[in-house]
Amino acid sequence: MLSGRGNSAQTIWRMENVLKRPDAFAMSTRQIQKVLNKMAMRGENLVGIYHSHPTAPPVPSTEDIAYAHYTEAAYLIVSLSSPQPALGCYRIWGARAFPRPFRLE
Ligand SMILES: [Zn+2]
Repeated sequence: MLSGRGNSAQTIWRMENVLKRPDAFAMSTRQIQKVLNKMAMRGENLVGIYHSHPTAPPVPSTEDIAYAHYTEAAYLIVSLSSPQPALGCYRIWGARAFPRPFRLE
């Protein structure tokens, strides 16, 4: 997960994939709650959730959309399917994904 102020991500929180699978991910609600508390203690809020697609393009899958519960967060997907990694950024709500502009600094 990514936290920061406004729409700017400043801190990376590495999460455990409780599914232990390379082709799907899920986070435990306990770890999410713990990390959200730590973000609050730093004066930051959740700005993004990122994951990778080892073999697929950087577009949300049906599962990504179904399990995207944080409508205020940007969903970032890093695709490693080509030699040059590609990054996609979306807001997901109402069972739809909307591409969002982003900037890497
Ligand atoms: Zn995905």
